[in-house]
Amino acid sequence: MTAERIETLKARALQAMQGAYAPYSHFRVGAAVLAADGAIYTGCNIENSAYSATCCAERVAVFSAVAAGARQITAVAIVSDSQGATYPCGVCRQVLSEFAADGEMQVYCGSAGGQWLETTLSRLLPHAFKAADMPGHEEKE
Ligand SMILES: [Zn+2]
Repeated sequence: MTAERIETLKARALQAMQGAYAPYSHFRVGAAVLAADGAIYTGCNIENSAYSATCCAERVAVFSAVAAGARQITAVAIVSDSQGATYPCGVCRQVLSEFAADGEMQVYCGSAGGQWLETTLSRLLPHAFKAADMPGHEEKE
């Protein structure tokens, strides 16, 4: 993954943040995922007056990628309008894990100030629950 591709991924996450629908929390988040074939898919958080129906930006981006046929994601960039680095929540970490290319993913966590922290999904979600943890599901499609 080139430095230029990483910068594009971060820029697309920032751009996606503009679409956030966050009238309740006012916490605007954008995410962009990089599929193994080089395609980038984006998402923003979409809140709902029935709070539990809210969906995070990362999951919107992943679900968009999967709906388009992607199954292997190599990197994700997440950014918000808050001052600190924007980490994926626990649910999103699990969803990202399902589609981590070769079991790993680079994670870029951005902030409103333009600082980016780089980590990996295995650091954020050690011992992730996998299909292989279920009897009879050693391989996923
Ligand atoms: Zn989340």
